Amino acid sequence: MKQIAFLITVLFCTSTLSALAPQRSLVGQSHRISRVDMQLTWEPRDPVNGSPVIYRVKPSVELTSLTGKWQNRPIFFEFDQASGMWNGFAGVGIDAAQGVHDLILTAKLPNGAVVTSTHTVTIRKATYRSIALRVPQRYTEPDAETLARIRQEQALKKEAFNRVGPSRLWSGSFKTPVDDIITGQFGTERTFNRRRQSVHQGLDLRASIGTPIAAMNGGEVVLAREMFYEGGFVVIDHGQGLMTLYMHLSEFRVKAGDRVNQGQIIGLSGNTGRVTAPHLHVSVRWQGIYLDPQKLIGLAF
Ligand SMILES: [Zn+2]
Repeated sequence: MKQIAFLITVLFCTSTLSALAPQRSLVGQSHRISRVDMQLTWEPRDPVNGSPVIYRVKPSVELTSLTGKWQNRPIFFEFDQASGMWNGFAGVGIDAAQGVHDLILTAKLPNGAVVTSTHTVTIRKATYRSIALRVPQRYTEPDAETLARIRQEQALKKEAFNRVGPSRLWSGSFKTPVDDIITGQFGTERTFNRRRQSVHQGLDLRASIGTPIAAMNGGEVVLAREMFYEGGFVVIDHGQGLMTLYMHLSEFRVKAGDRVNQGQIIGLSGNTGRVTAPHLHVSVRWQGIYLDPQKLIGLAF
């Protein structure tokens, strides 16, 4: 049973000018008051920190477009003919406060009218573990040369991560990049060499060196190169600000600019970068927010 937010009835008028500047004279403008119900549901039923979320909207009237704003980020809704619903992908950041958050919907009607409505979604707090790790000292206390490299690589990542377009390059559910056991959960608070603390922003999967790594879904490769922390690093842009990141690879099978299909081998796993043992680290990013890859894989699109 899907959770249903309250139905929202919205008043709107056909004149955008009067909506923007109601203090001006309304003489000569046509006004029509209408009612539009936007029925909102979402999956998973109880979003927590790190959850990817699919929002589904069933409007009472035909729309020409629907966009959303959630956590100050755009949601690009797409109409599904079979269900008569508009579906949009979003996520909940690991740092998002628990409690009630707003989802603002903006719909365009065939007559040009714009309808906005505000809906509330409750975020619950996920509990994550804490662990201590030991890595070579150069990863916790990098020297000046390494710091310069790290800064350069941060700029490259920023550029790659900044891409947010409305088109969706993925289709269907996301699949695991390697079929092996989980050795590190998303959200774990980690202490490196008793000093540096960070939250694990991805999922670690056991993978011996040379294991083929598959793209979790279709998209475009935006980065494929060696980096200090990430080692052999591939980033796939799936569109709408959704990306998957694959780290510690020993070999690449793709380059930046390549289009990939779900299941396509993008590289071989390894032990490059900041690792304690060979494994694949996979991260999921949505518009600057890291999401739990396990939850994304479990989500039915
Ligand atoms: Zn990891």
